Amino acid sequence: MGPPGAGKGTQAQFVAAQLGIPHISTGDIFRANVAGGTELGQQAQKFMDAGELVPDSVTNAMVADRLTQPDTEPGFLLDGYPRNRDQAVVLEDLLADRSIGLDAVVELVVDSESVIARLLDRAIKDGRADDTEDVIRRRLDVYAEQTEPLVGYYREKSLLRTVDGVGQIADITARILDALTN
Ligand code: AMP
Repeated sequence: MGPPGAGKGTQAQFVAAQLGIPHISTGDIFRANVAGGTELGQQAQKFMDAGELVPDSVTNAMVADRLTQPDTEPGFLLDGYPRNRDQAVVLEDLLADRSIGLDAVVELVVDSESVIARLLDRAIKDGRADDTEDVIRRRLDVYAEQTEPLVGYYREKSLLRTVDGVGQIADITARILDALTN
């Protein structure tokens, strides 16, 4: 977990590789579907472009499908999901069906100045359609309103690992791995 620009995607990639498990980014899956012009991509695009969450029915079905793939058997790292309370509850049900549960939830803590600087930097480098100023603002609001409450939800379940997300990429990866193993 962490606001847009906290470095979730970058860190998730390194952490998943280190743990030998798939990195499942709902944002990446949506972007691939938009690029491929699939029906799922068409359903998701207008929400993504506006900085809104794609409807839960669409997102949950996509994650449910992804989790049936055999590469998830040894474990998996979810990046960008769940993003609201309903998704969190659906995820619990999906995992319960497989008699498993979450091992941990990592929260990357980054001050808002660093977040905005990173997003603007990414806008220049990657040209992501949702990295414009208005959309960035909306995505930060959506995070604060809908996703951030999950921090408390997972803290109550003793799953939350809070990690300082400011610093060198490799140092942050090491902090996350440390938080997951201690
Ligand atoms: P991300 O790459 O994680 O920042 O996601 C980019 C965009 O994809 C978000 O702004 C949403 O429009 C959409 N998206 C990604 N994950 C979810 C999710 N769990 N629920 C709803 N929409 C999502």
